[in-house]
Amino acid sequence: MNSNYLQTPIVYLKGVGPHRAETLKTELGISTYQDLLNLFPNRHIDKTKYYKINQLQRSNADVQVIGKIVHIKTVEQKKGKRLVAKFIDDTGEMELVWFRGQKWIKENIKINVPYVIFGKCNWFNGKFSMPHPEMELLENHEKGVKIVMQPIYPSTEKLTNRGITNKVINKMMQQLFLDCKGQFSESLSPGLINELNLITKSEALFNIHFPKNLDLLAKAQFRLKFEELFYIQLQLLAKNKSRKQRIKGFVFDQVGTLFNQFFTDYLPFDLTNAQKRVIKEIRADLGSNAQMNRLLQGDVGSGKTIVALMTMLLAIDNDYQACLMAPTEILANQHFNGIQELLSDMGIKIAILTGSTKTSARKIIHKELESGELKILIGTHALLEDKVKFKNLGLAIVDEQHRFGVAQRSKLWHKNEKPPHILVMTATPIPRTLAMSLYGDLDISVIDELPPGRKPIKTVHRYDSNRLKVFAFIKDEIKKGRQIYVVYPLIQESEALDYKDLMDGYESIARDFPKPEYQISIVHGKMKPADKDFEMERFVKGETQIMVATTVIEVGVNVPNASVMIVESAERFGLSQLHQLRGRVGRGADQSFCILMTSHKLTNDSKTRLETMVKTNDGFEIAEVDLKLRGPGDLMGTQQSGMLHLKIADIVKDNDILKTARLYANKILKEDPTLEHANNLVVRHMYAQIIKHKNIWNYIS
Ligand code: ADP
Ligand code: MG
Repeated sequence: MNSNYLQTPIVYLKGVGPHRAETLKTELGISTYQDLLNLFPNRHIDKTKYYKINQLQRSNADVQVIGKIVHIKTVEQKKGKRLVAKFIDDTGEMELVWFRGQKWIKENIKINVPYVIFGKCNWFNGKFSMPHPEMELLENHEKGVKIVMQPIYPSTEKLTNRGITNKVINKMMQQLFLDCKGQFSESLSPGLINELNLITKSEALFNIHFPKNLDLLAKAQFRLKFEELFYIQLQLLAKNKSRKQRIKGFVFDQVGTLFNQFFTDYLPFDLTNAQKRVIKEIRADLGSNAQMNRLLQGDVGSGKTIVALMTMLLAIDNDYQACLMAPTEILANQHFNGIQELLSDMGIKIAILTGSTKTSARKIIHKELESGELKILIGTHALLEDKVKFKNLGLAIVDEQHRFGVAQRSKLWHKNEKPPHILVMTATPIPRTLAMSLYGDLDISVIDELPPGRKPIKTVHRYDSNRLKVFAFIKDEIKKGRQIYVVYPLIQESEALDYKDLMDGYESIARDFPKPEYQISIVHGKMKPADKDFEMERFVKGETQIMVATTVIEVGVNVPNASVMIVESAERFGLSQLHQLRGRVGRGADQSFCILMTSHKLTNDSKTRLETMVKTNDGFEIAEVDLKLRGPGDLMGTQQSGMLHLKIADIVKDNDILKTARLYANKILKEDPTLEHANNLVVRHMYAQIIKHKNIWNYIS
């Protein structure tokens, strides 16, 4: 059936009419035949199975039972009445209940005649009961067309109240298939269909709505999911490609003196293979004509900073300036100090700019930036201010990107007439394939290897009641010369409460770890930046042994001598946050520990989080669990990418299909960038429609 016909307003479908059309529109966004066709079932129920009453489970599942009504009565209740029928088979009895439409049921239901009933079965008042069952006389049931798998469509309360039940939607769908004679235009190329052994579009649509058997249902689902993901990937990849062609970047063709000098004389360690690979990938970008827009993913402690530094040297070698932006002042300072030290003998001018930079210093920075004298600027959001103008910014690096929005990233773009190369670094691992699919506009590099000699951090979970033992352990570690973090949650909504927790905690630690033997630093959000830095510095220098803090220390801070991370109320932290916190330790040669303190009250999710932390140090594995617990909604990028509005695929569960879809989209674009081969005509046509209408499923049929 051609797609024009499918654009017919739904009101014209037999059995719909203006009222239902209106409800379908407001509740499900269905206004055309096409929309209805693409209303995919949430799930299917196996209708080949019949239960005996004594086989029913208290799981509130949909079941199908054969039996008969032996008795029916009206029961008065506080509000209105309900109709209750006693339903039996040869193994037991159950109740059928109606709250609405009682008159009709009473007049039409047959007593002592076999029925097939279908519906959700509850355990209520010591009995199984089924409210508003679907009922069919066994005699008719045996004669009629057998539905193998019953599709269950998305529904809302309003839909049900207005009589648009699952059954009604099913009827409409049947009508639609009759009208279209079950024929729908193909939307994937013959090549793809052959290679992936897919069923045709018409077959897929038929079997998603009226599955003939389980095997065909699975094939229909695969085909439709693949198609949905394929066209999204095609769009993302094509966009990325055209961006690269459109936006020319500065060409850094010199691997010059500074880069080489640093590499031979000042690099304090051997690069890991992963670091080498990533630097190579970056160099390839910078040397090409295109503007780099690259995401560098690497677990905490994997050594992203040195990669950033060497990339900046490439920029300077090519006579450009570079900047590095960090989300907090502490982190910006740390980068500044570290980088300054590494470059101390190379005569490169570096400065730091944050919210607390004094006006006089600021003025000098502004001037030296514009003259080009200043080569590297490190700082916070302060870098984004309009007053900060570069002579020729060639490279902008953003650390811990999830703290910055897309808008801020784009601000960096506009520091020059021509956008600088951009490298965003994040330690929040997103499963790799997922990241690739979400960030159409970013290329991805991954440092998947830690520097050698790191001992895996030992993680344990302890209840608050074991606090004394934990304190004793801390004392031992301090005796060995180690330093300790104690971190409290800080959640915006209950800031005052959290602050109190932190202060109470601090006092109790201060009692158990008295001066002068023990020195304690405290850092939290209510302090002035200067005070924060002062306290932080004392800890970095080793003047204090314990750092009590809120999550401000979460990102980036590097104190190799700190070997114990204690997380208070760990059940209140998300997985990725816990992993970030743990990454603050394990940076030196000593065995490090992470102790997750919780109360005894734990939800299932928090138990899973704690168990995962104890079990593994692998950020990517943790990210997978996190994704399963939270769903992709919280992940950065998901909103913009449209990946959340999928109709049939699920980016987490269908990750394998996603990979396949991406692979093929890539292959097609590589072999036939303009989609001109005869074999790709269908794809080209579909793609044009999607771009035009900004909606994949509108035109995919
Ligand atoms: P992150 O990726 O979390 O930003 P950093 O760049 O802060 O990690 O590096 C963590 C620590 O590892 C730093 O002390 C750094 O000097 C060190 N480091 C980085 N790369 C290597 C390497 N190849 N060999 C040994 N130590 C390294
Ligand atoms: Mg870092």
